[in-house]
Amino acid sequence: MPFAEIIAQDRALASLRSALRRGALHHAYLFGGPEGTGKAIVARVLAQAANCEAGEGGPAGFRDDACGTCGPCRKIGRGLHPDVFVLRDERTMAKEGRWEPKGGRTPSRDVVVDQVRDLVDHRLAMKRFEGRRRFVIVDPADAMNPQAQNALLKTLEEPPDDTTLVLVAASPDRLLPTIRSRCLRVPFGPIPAEIVEARLRADGRAPEEARLAAALAGGSLGRALALDPEELGALRDSVLAAVALDPGDAGAWLAFAKAHGEDRQQAAELCELLALWLRDVLAARAGGDRLALAELEAATRRAAGALAPAEVVRRRAEVQRTAAALRQNASPVLALERLLIGWFHGRA
Ligand SMILES: [Zn+2]
Repeated sequence: MPFAEIIAQDRALASLRSALRRGALHHAYLFGGPEGTGKAIVARVLAQAANCEAGEGGPAGFRDDACGTCGPCRKIGRGLHPDVFVLRDERTMAKEGRWEPKGGRTPSRDVVVDQVRDLVDHRLAMKRFEGRRRFVIVDPADAMNPQAQNALLKTLEEPPDDTTLVLVAASPDRLLPTIRSRCLRVPFGPIPAEIVEARLRADGRAPEEARLAAALAGGSLGRALALDPEELGALRDSVLAAVALDPGDAGAWLAFAKAHGEDRQQAAELCELLALWLRDVLAARAGGDRLALAELEAATRRAAGALAPAEVVRRRAEVQRTAAALRQNASPVLALERLLIGWFHGRA
């Protein structure tokens, strides 16, 4: 059953399945939680389950899961059901051939007010075509700019009959409080690393690689699946290069920061891997043998012999500070430069 394919979101699923069984779906949900934790898939399966034609269903006549194979389930799965509409950012919808901005404007990365008006004035003004319940999935809802959110407000206040809106958001705080307060919040938590690792192993990834990808993915299965071996290998090499820098050679640090600070995401991943490596250094000092970065074992053991635990902890704090600065839009090159100064000399 499709809901069974979702991993580690038992609480979210239990509340949705209970609402399905009772035939009491809310008119608006807000699925909030990190990227890659199954929010969009659950939104689709919810639409399938509410429209599924297989079997008898619960006491109220509703099923609490989708069969995945009946006509409506298949149509929704392929994005072809006329009563299930997925509203995405302009650029994505333009690529799918489903949206063209007015006046030949270049499509933006936002969900804009024209898109919401089109949804409200045309699609939602019509009767349902063939389904039992109409769904509008806004993914990502936090890409709606404030005007677009305001245009959706009235629909959330006076929803059309037999219609459910699902707002999917990695950063629900970017939604206006008036939007949030009109939705039933369904939180999606980060997926524990060992579950992500097991899933990657089941997909045939090598043990070392699965453990590293799971550790780096920060609770996002989507991100773990997207990390390919080549990328992981390059990141590992960057960590080795960083820890091998000569403390006296400021020119080499600047060159390193410049080379690795071109891309914010890569700089952030480098920080995560450095933090992971420092955790390994502490583990090696304590005599542990389960290292996350087993391929860096030689460098790890060297550092474990050379650095006092307090120094390792201090360096990890530097890395965490840099990761936080990168999240707050600091320049990646400057952030890495500051990290290396802190790493080798401590901060004033
Ligand atoms: Zn079905």
